[in-house]
Amino acid sequence: MKSLQELTRPNIWALKPYSSARDEYSGKTASVFLDANENPYNAPNNRYPDPLQKELKALIAPVKKVKPEQIFLGNGSDEAIDLLFRAFCRPGIDNVVAIHPTYGMYQVCADINDVEYRKVLLDEKFQFKAEDLLRASDENTKLIFLCSPNNPTGNNLDAKEIITLLREFQGIVIVDEAYIDFSTQPSFIGILDEYPNLVILQTFSKAWGCAAIRLGMAFASPDIIGIFSKIKYPYNINLLTQQEALRMMQRHYEVQRWISTLLEERARLMQAFTQLPCCKKVFPTDANFFLTRVSNAKAIYDYLVDQGIIVRNRSNITRCEDCLRITVGTRPENDALLEALRKYTE
Ligand SMILES: *Cc1c(COP(=O)(O)O)cnc(C)c1O
Repeated sequence: MKSLQELTRPNIWALKPYSSARDEYSGKTASVFLDANENPYNAPNNRYPDPLQKELKALIAPVKKVKPEQIFLGNGSDEAIDLLFRAFCRPGIDNVVAIHPTYGMYQVCADINDVEYRKVLLDEKFQFKAEDLLRASDENTKLIFLCSPNNPTGNNLDAKEIITLLREFQGIVIVDEAYIDFSTQPSFIGILDEYPNLVILQTFSKAWGCAAIRLGMAFASPDIIGIFSKIKYPYNINLLTQQEALRMMQRHYEVQRWISTLLEERARLMQAFTQLPCCKKVFPTDANFFLTRVSNAKAIYDYLVDQGIIVRNRSNITRCEDCLRITVGTRPENDALLEALRKYTE
């Protein structure tokens, strides 16, 4: 890879970050805090939260087998995606490359930041070749976005091709692992130390059952994490979110139970789908959802809405023609879906 300085926007590299009161004094021994213009009443919400979320990172680090300096916490993974553009991509000059179809936020963030977004179509099995992504890139390509298991297709991307990309691409490779807890494939976190151009995204929104608290994680070299920390809002993770995440870290055995249940339900639901007259194909998945090709996606989507059941219509996306994306729910929810579809007539 190029040096981090070459990849980073010059203004960001030179940036002197805002120094908050809690940055300048973060010791534990003081008892009188008259430095941040806070209200002394209404504890604990009166105090600004820890800008670097040290307590939370100290709990996440051993679970993820990384050092706390390799963790960035954001207001959802979406914050980390936006920071990648703001840190590395010069508006109107630089570009990024991504697989297609994939998660829609990469393109939205590219458009917001006025950065060209180059899509490389996945093959019929929703796989890619590293050389195709490399061919789509040039000297101004700063980021390559991968998502594995991929949304909306559900499959893991070929790990060998990801490694080739990490070796050969001169910029930063992002592997979005929002669904990794449901996957049979190991996380790329295990090779973080070998590849300084790797950024892994994970989230509390899916397996951890915490979409409402807005907490995303990025794992990368301490140097990249340092750049994120420098440009993020000083208090990007509020106290309530930090406290709830700390509580969730104590309950991770429960998360494992949810995952096992959802994987069993996923198998049952997919098997039942293959028996439905309206179902043409069920695509393999490693996530808590699956993609299915149906006889008429729009008509079936509308029919389900009438029954009070909402699935995701992905039929206007290339490679997903007439496809619905089905999130695995509780057993009664999945049964309600199956019952409605068994009654469906063209
Ligand atoms: C759901 C999802 C996320 C999570 O985003 P948050 O902002 O953390 O809620 C990230 N990436 C992908 C591919 C997703 O599907």
